[in-house]
Amino acid sequence: MEVFGQQVSPGVVVGQIHLLDNSADDELQSSSDLNGAADLDAYYRAKERAVDALDKLYHKTLQEVGEEEASIVDAQRMMLLDEDVDDAVRRAFEKEQDLVKAIECTFKDIVTQFEALEDEYLRARTADVLDIKVRLLRALNSTSFEIELPSNSIIVSDDISPSQALSLDRRQIAAFVMRKGSSTSHIAILANSLRIPALINTPIGGGQELIGRTAIVDSLSSRVILDPSVKAVEETKSHIFELEKVRAQVENLRGKVTETRSGKRIKLYANICSVDDAYTAAEADAEGVGLFRTEFMFIGRSGPPSLYEQFDVYRTVAKAMCGRQVIIRTLDIGADKVAAYLKLGDEGNNPALGYRAIRILLDDEKLFKTQLKAIYMAAAEPGCNIAIMFPMIASTWEVKKALGFCAEVQEELLSSKTIQKKPEVPVGVMVETPAAALIAEDLAKLVSFFSVGTNDLTQYTLAIDRQGSRKLDKYFDPQHPALFELLKMTASAATRNGIWAGICGELAADLSLVQNFIDWGFTELSVSPRTVLPLRQRILEIE
Ligand code: PEP
Ligand code: MG
Repeated sequence: MEVFGQQVSPGVVVGQIHLLDNSADDELQSSSDLNGAADLDAYYRAKERAVDALDKLYHKTLQEVGEEEASIVDAQRMMLLDEDVDDAVRRAFEKEQDLVKAIECTFKDIVTQFEALEDEYLRARTADVLDIKVRLLRALNSTSFEIELPSNSIIVSDDISPSQALSLDRRQIAAFVMRKGSSTSHIAILANSLRIPALINTPIGGGQELIGRTAIVDSLSSRVILDPSVKAVEETKSHIFELEKVRAQVENLRGKVTETRSGKRIKLYANICSVDDAYTAAEADAEGVGLFRTEFMFIGRSGPPSLYEQFDVYRTVAKAMCGRQVIIRTLDIGADKVAAYLKLGDEGNNPALGYRAIRILLDDEKLFKTQLKAIYMAAAEPGCNIAIMFPMIASTWEVKKALGFCAEVQEELLSSKTIQKKPEVPVGVMVETPAAALIAEDLAKLVSFFSVGTNDLTQYTLAIDRQGSRKLDKYFDPQHPALFELLKMTASAATRNGIWAGICGELAADLSLVQNFIDWGFTELSVSPRTVLPLRQRILEIE
């Protein structure tokens, strides 16, 4: 049986299913199932145990995984320490006269509140809340927080929280398959940084009868094959062997110049979302950052990051790249990336065609200028090589207005003596609307480079929502001739006007198209850090 899901971390494995359910404690229906008094004192003791366990997990994660992942556990610990939660449990206990039920009710209310939130990032934290409840119930029942995993386990769950995942022995995990989840959920981020293949939104039916069954998780083709034939397992194992061989081969390419056989030099950059990613990109031997998606810094909080917070992030990213170019994309918020505090209002039925990215920044002078200031301040620091690019451009007036803000910001920084001289900061635009590609000739006269966002360019050219239903899959053709025409127009307008053009959308990683991109005139490709070396290998092979 084959089931399709959504890939959030790539890889191919064969393993055995291990079911992990947030209702694992469902044998605990009420306080009468517990041994011992179940009063409010028992709640406070359980809470102390749960906080203690999260504390230990926090330190372990900090040491073994990283700061970003540890902060997820810390956020759960903070929620558990919140006195409002104690008050809610106390009120529910007075009403229910049953501690287990009181905890269930309290967390049901919290989950309802999270699910009603506008902010997609915060909504995706529901799994974290449910995990806190399970931890409390386990502590109440004196059940261990440790879960024994057989080796090569494919973790199947509705939507597990990162702290649940971090509590597991990573050496035993082959893959994660989530029935729910979102691409911004922490499990997606975590699976990626742990390099464990993961699928979300995978409708794999069944309960206990799944346990121990063999499955192939091929997240590269977004599928799970349950009870595969012996032949399929053998084929997958040799596929994994080939993938490993390629990985080992490309390791030799570290430090090599990226150029074609005929000597065309290509800038091989990486896409990043955070400071941690910048270290990963440097480690992956990326020659620069072709797209720093800054919006993740603005999501999941109650207000925008301050000037100095942003300055510190941009400077740290640039330093992590040791003088290699870092292209910072100004805030691309809106559509699927929501920051409730910006109060953007009703987006209508087509948020992807709505109020987003540069459209918001050109209206919100404070938001835009703060980000630009932080970027120019970082660019003025020694050893920082920074460029700026604007997303979702459709008209020349937008670029002119944005460049006006850049000029104003630099003057303000000079007159306040925050910087001593104007730093060298090339400015480019993303070509991700068909309009931008069609007027590339005019845009090229205003900026220093183009970077094609093929993810959005494909959705706008083919009129297919990239968040749309799976029914649209057969229409979503990233190799559509119309898209290729727009790519060619963009690259040739750049060449004619003496500026460079690159690609930072997912298509840049399509090894079968590299020859075309180079033939059309693209000289930069920006991909996920993991793809940097395989892409270098491909470029070295072509004419
Ligand atoms: C794109 O649209 O191709 C792109 C790189 O930007 P994002 O995926 O962040 O919208
Ligand atoms: Mg885009």
